Amino acid sequence: MNLKPASLAAQALGWIDDKTRAVTPPIHVSSTYIRDPDNQFRSGRAYVRDHNPAFEQAESLISTLEGGAHCALFASGMAAATAVFQALAPGDHVLAPKVMYWSLRKWLLSFATHWGLQVELIDMADPSALRTALRPGRTKLVWVETPANPLWDITDIAAAAQLAHGVGARLAVDSTVATPLLTRPIEHGADLVMHSATKYLNGHSDLTAGALITREADDFWQRIRAIRVDLGGTLGSFEAWLLTRGLRTLHVRVERACRSAQAIAEHFEHHPRVAAVLYPGLPAFAGHAVAKRQMQGGFGGMLSIRVNGGDRGGEAAAIATAAHVALWKRATSLGGTESLLEHRASIEGAGTPVPPDLLRLSVGLEDAGDLIADLEQALARAQS
Ligand SMILES: *Cc1c(COP(=O)(O)O)cnc(C)c1O
Repeated sequence: MNLKPASLAAQALGWIDDKTRAVTPPIHVSSTYIRDPDNQFRSGRAYVRDHNPAFEQAESLISTLEGGAHCALFASGMAAATAVFQALAPGDHVLAPKVMYWSLRKWLLSFATHWGLQVELIDMADPSALRTALRPGRTKLVWVETPANPLWDITDIAAAAQLAHGVGARLAVDSTVATPLLTRPIEHGADLVMHSATKYLNGHSDLTAGALITREADDFWQRIRAIRVDLGGTLGSFEAWLLTRGLRTLHVRVERACRSAQAIAEHFEHHPRVAAVLYPGLPAFAGHAVAKRQMQGGFGGMLSIRVNGGDRGGEAAAIATAAHVALWKRATSLGGTESLLEHRASIEGAGTPVPPDLLRLSVGLEDAGDLIADLEQALARAQS
């Protein structure tokens, strides 16, 4: 049966425990496994860092949803992302976006560069910028994030894959914001997909986890898996179990977040207190046409607004708006049931491409009308 994502997710692939007939899995916490009397490991398991059964259900569900060959869970999104770069060799040239998840950008420009990678940041929303920056024989990886934090720039994955493959480079996509329900990067030509499972995949702001999905189990994938085991960035058993539980409602949560985000974006698009709304679901947004092609069922639960400041300036007005919200919560992160709002520029500091009047919004599962009303009153108080 060719089941739709909702059917796959709701039952976590229809798994039933062989021994007890339970419909939810047990939590395996053992760190080690019995060796057979003749010194073999017929169970296929020796030690938890390599062979934790707690990973298997979430890994197969995520890899099925993404249409990949395999998935590997990590202790965080950062552990997953950095494993991809560490599977390269010092001297390799890599291209990444100027607009991307801030901590990874910082790591690329500090640790990864110090370690010997030739990191170049480009405008990844512009395929001609990518074409120009690719160095045949030298560029080994193109890293894309779409929609990209927190300006929601859209990269055409199919175009990027074609360009990257043309010079023998791999394409990896941070698809945290899109989730496998809205975009399946491997179908568009990507070689690797990365998720901060801390966000939508788990969806309840109660764990950190990362996931990598590969198109094929090639040598590069084996290096990534070895890095997980050797560097030890493995997920805990409780977290893996919670992640599977969160994944079962992914489709319902994402559908709702998309619908509310679209309504909030449309409400504030021509609002007198708002200078701009950045959301791929708005036809006036620069990346809308590409987003429409490669996202199905919605444009995600993330948007940003630029606050009108009048004489006081947009930065002060944005910070004051954040101070006055009641239902929205002032906090970093995204993809949980509760709606979050954050002034990104003051977090990212020098070198950020984020304008100072910008607030990033992660739309949760509250009533969309309540979220709009709360933002309305906060904008009014901030600007009075
Ligand atoms: C949060 C996030 C990460 C990092 O994930 P952690 O789980 O916090 O380590 C990477 N990319 C994006 C787009 C994110 O939102």
